[in-house]
Amino acid sequence: MTNITRMQLLRGDLKGKKKPFRPPWAIPEEYFVDYCTRCDKCIDACFDELIVKGRGGFPQMDFKKGGCDFCEDCINVCETNALKKIPDNTQKTKEHGNSDSSEEESYLPPWHIKANIDLTNCLSMNATICRSCGESCDDKAIKFDLKLGGIAEPILNIEQCTGCGACFSVCPVQVITLTPIAIENGT
Ligand code: SF4
Ligand code: SF4
Ligand code: SF4
Repeated sequence: MTNITRMQLLRGDLKGKKKPFRPPWAIPEEYFVDYCTRCDKCIDACFDELIVKGRGGFPQMDFKKGGCDFCEDCINVCETNALKKIPDNTQKTKEHGNSDSSEEESYLPPWHIKANIDLTNCLSMNATICRSCGESCDDKAIKFDLKLGGIAEPILNIEQCTGCGACFSVCPVQVITLTPIAIENGT
């Protein structure tokens, strides 16, 4: 039988499919809702106003105003470690024994979110000039492939995409979505 978490009950989401996007470096959801005291400090700390009060009073990302630049201001004010950078031990193991390995600590990524472009209604695919998503992407994850007939297809490089959400907020026809991706431990 499937376990239903407290947060699923609060959200009315018995199947567990509507997980909100938490701020970057949020610990796994089942711990997050226990550690987070809903103090709002991360919400106040985000200069770009990307964190809003979500269901149950817990903070969640709202990418409508722009993309996250991973400035870490939100995690720096979190006193309960609900937002916390976790050292990437797998990376350390890989580097172990390598005499050139850097002393710098590496951390797990801030989240597992990727952008996705629905090309059907993309302006650029319909012969209207638009490069907004590519221009907003600091990580250069979106490039345009020129085709006949004034069409330029936006090509998203998933590996380079950090899920920052910058492209999501600028697309004039809202054909970009942000999607959580599955990772090995299933979180
Ligand atoms: S890392 Fe910076 S920009 Fe991103 S949500 Fe936190 S405070 Fe806002
Ligand atoms: S493609 Fe990825 S990295 Fe680039 S702006 Fe969109 S979400 Fe950010
Ligand atoms: S911003 Fe939106 S409409 Fe413009 S090229 Fe990118 S996906 Fe297409």
